[in-house]
Amino acid sequence: MTYDEPMPWMDDRQKCRECDGTGEVIHEHEIYHRQGFDRDVGYVATKYVQEPCEDCSGTGETNNNG
Ligand SMILES: [Zn+2]
Repeated sequence: MTYDEPMPWMDDRQKCRECDGTGEVIHEHEIYHRQGFDRDVGYVATKYVQEPCEDCSGTGETNNNG
């Protein structure tokens, strides 16, 4: 992964690329259901969970200095 040099006209605080500045990211959780009473095979359900971004600690901004 490469990051461009900070643009001169930009603040040192930059929009977090991980969450696109929202401070939250959507995580996909795959939930495996075991076979039911009348099912031979299990199935997988995908659940989307909104969680605070770890990259920016939920602020939506990152500081790439240093
Ligand atoms: Zn973020």
